[in-house]
Amino acid sequence: MNQPVDSTAAELLGGNRPALDVERVRADFPILHQEVRGKPLAYFDNAATSQKPAKVIETVDHYYRALNSNIHRGVHYLSEQATSAYENAREAQRRFINAESTREIVFVRGATEAINLIVQSWGRSQLKAGDEVIISEMEHHSNIVPWQMLRDQIGIELKVIPINDAGELQLDIYEELLNERTKLVAINHLSNALGTVNPVKSIIDQAHEAGALVLVDGAQAVPHTPVDVQALGCDFYVYSGHKLFGPTGIGVLYGREDLLEAMPPYQGGGDMIKMVKLDRTIYNDLPYKFEAGTPHIAGGIGLGAAVEYVEDIGLEAIAAYEHDLLEYATEQALTVEGLKLIGTAQNKASILSFIMDGVHPHDLGTIVDSEGIAIRTGHHCAMPVMDHFGVPATARASFAFYNTHAEIDRLIAALKHAHEVLA
Ligand code: PMP
Repeated sequence: MNQPVDSTAAELLGGNRPALDVERVRADFPILHQEVRGKPLAYFDNAATSQKPAKVIETVDHYYRALNSNIHRGVHYLSEQATSAYENAREAQRRFINAESTREIVFVRGATEAINLIVQSWGRSQLKAGDEVIISEMEHHSNIVPWQMLRDQIGIELKVIPINDAGELQLDIYEELLNERTKLVAINHLSNALGTVNPVKSIIDQAHEAGALVLVDGAQAVPHTPVDVQALGCDFYVYSGHKLFGPTGIGVLYGREDLLEAMPPYQGGGDMIKMVKLDRTIYNDLPYKFEAGTPHIAGGIGLGAAVEYVEDIGLEAIAAYEHDLLEYATEQALTVEGLKLIGTAQNKASILSFIMDGVHPHDLGTIVDSEGIAIRTGHHCAMPVMDHFGVPATARASFAFYNTHAEIDRLIAALKHAHEVLA
């Protein structure tokens, strides 16, 4: 079936191709310049977590050396400095995804916590037994399990958009699933297991026509494509900092202000309150209502530096460069005997998932690792995708803008060697 290409996917697939100087960007990433197992490191596990540029490392280092202080509550100098650095980082996220207001940017631990927050706060307060939520067969476990938990808690119905054998959503079935009981569609922007780029704009438009809200899981999309939440028209958008060249333990929940305003807090504690008496509490304004307790201050500030770094290179340039890398890697992979790609969607980005006849993915991973090449093997927290393709695991090379064609040549040579010695 032909998949509609919306503007986001089109941008992801190349656009007007400004140049990216890969040697210059590689120089920004200290970790890349080392040998592992006696060979130069080739890091192809970017979908699990990406490496950090010196700008991010130095920003976090500077915070602990010069600014460390608790935020929002202090009147002393360091507290004021740390607070303004943290709030500037929030503004950087707003700009990065073009949200209307920083009131719509909630700092969380990552995509997982963001989805759990939406499920438990929005879901529990707005849904009742019999209401329907649509997810897809290609969701990460973090966009499946929290919904199943809510189903078991309050009796919602979970509907699933199936995928085809190319790893694309079956959009005709999506249309059939939408009905007046559908309250929310929770959908992956870019699949971490398959590399499929979903046509989220048209999915959102159709959901809205049916009167449903849309949550987009952008964990894999934000490092590879420009995202504009207002142009998409999504109601919630979530991502993790550590896949976006920032620290672990920090991420973003974007929510439309009117929705967040109407939602109850997720956790109670300090910072999320305006006033507490022993018998009642007045909650703080957005976004602080959802940020109980001392946050990951260094992480937030580090994530601010990460998006500034990415903006300096330009996501159009990144998308174009990675598109070439993925095309090259796909062509070359198909020359490896016994190799079968898992995920052959028309619109793909940054991820090459595969199996090899007669070789377990874990053995592939080990042999490739002995050449200093990091790939991931396993179910990629997407067991329903593995079930669809009837495999326990795949091997996955996932690219970032600091990977090179020469590194891909080394990967392909290692895979050919693995086939010779193991198949
Ligand atoms: N969604 C997708 C598509 C992902 O790839 C991941 C991480 N692999 C997540 C959600 C969860 O991200 P985190 O573990 O950072 O919360």
